[in-house]
Amino acid sequence: MRVWIDQDLCTGDGLCVDHCHDVFVQLEDGIAYVSEAGQVLNDPGSSGSLARVEERHAQSVVRAAEVCPGECIFIELDEGETWSSVLDGDSVPQSS
Ligand code: SF4
Repeated sequence: MRVWIDQDLCTGDGLCVDHCHDVFVQLEDGIAYVSEAGQVLNDPGSSGSLARVEERHAQSVVRAAEVCPGECIFIELDEGETWSSVLDGDSVPQSS
């Protein structure tokens, strides 16, 4: 699962940081960005700002996206991933 933020819509309230400070950060401009492995991806609007989310943070990131007042946190599932697998904490879905 990967996540990115449309900084043009961000209100800067910091709710996402409250939910998962390992993935979301607020910089000096007051706007939120994503980070991956401790590195802030602050290149708005490019694929370089798409951060891979560790499984242990997946539910917090989804919750942050749900409460984001700017509706500007976007989640992209990896191939073979489903919403239920992400929310159940099982990123490798069972084959049927
Ligand atoms: S919750 Fe949304 S609007 Fe608020 S700081 Fe985070 S990305 Fe920006």
